[in-house]
Amino acid sequence: MKIGIFGGTFDPVHLGHLRAGVEAAEALGLSRVYFVPSHTAPHKKDGGRASGLQRLEMARLAVASCRLLEASAVEIERGGKSFTADTLEYFKNKLPEAERVFLVGLDAFLEIHTWKNFESLFFLADFAVLSRPQTRGQAQMQAYIQEHLNGLLSRNDAGQWLSASGQRLCFVPVTGMDISATDIRQRALKSLDISFLVPDPVKNYIEQNRLYKNEKETASL
Ligand code: ATP
Repeated sequence: MKIGIFGGTFDPVHLGHLRAGVEAAEALGLSRVYFVPSHTAPHKKDGGRASGLQRLEMARLAVASCRLLEASAVEIERGGKSFTADTLEYFKNKLPEAERVFLVGLDAFLEIHTWKNFESLFFLADFAVLSRPQTRGQAQMQAYIQEHLNGLLSRNDAGQWLSASGQRLCFVPVTGMDISATDIRQRALKSLDISFLVPDPVKNYIEQNRLYKNEKETASL
């Protein structure tokens, strides 16, 4: 069994995340992709405007109709700052037989050297870097690896990136959907229609709970 672990703030989860999850699952032969909303993302300064439980609920609503995707409460339940290394350890213990692939959009990958204990991540899972509009794709990923991850990852004769422990890193092109959670929050703040950016149940949840209506609001759990 091979699983994907897709971390993020998901504030809110949107169609860009969902298509990326499905297409990565199909490209990599993953039986399931776990969407893991962070409790507090150490590298996102505003901490999000929906609470962890609300972001988890939106992730659950979003994936309910897709057998490839599942929402995981692991980081919300763990509380505190969410570190990917802890989450990968959790899945290693929970599903020891499964091959783990950590999914990350290229924009987020390009900051990975700022994450706590980032070196350890390349021992805990394979990596799949997903294309994202407004980034320059595989060439940008390769230049970044050479600049910031030199010594951690190297290329074999077949052109694959490997860590010292044999974990693989690959680039997965996904349908370019130039959607961001920031843009959705701003639209919701202005009471603009967010149809077709998020699944309908997520749109309804945002409206019913009046999420993102106050720019200064930072909800707590
Ligand atoms: P924000 O605008 O609040 O920064 P976001 O839309 O980038 O949010 P995150 O929750 O930060 O969403 O993203 C979680 C993961 O999904 C990251 O790895 C990110 O690179 C990836 N991702 C986000 N949006 C897309 C998209 N449209 N296409 C592909 N990957 C995406």
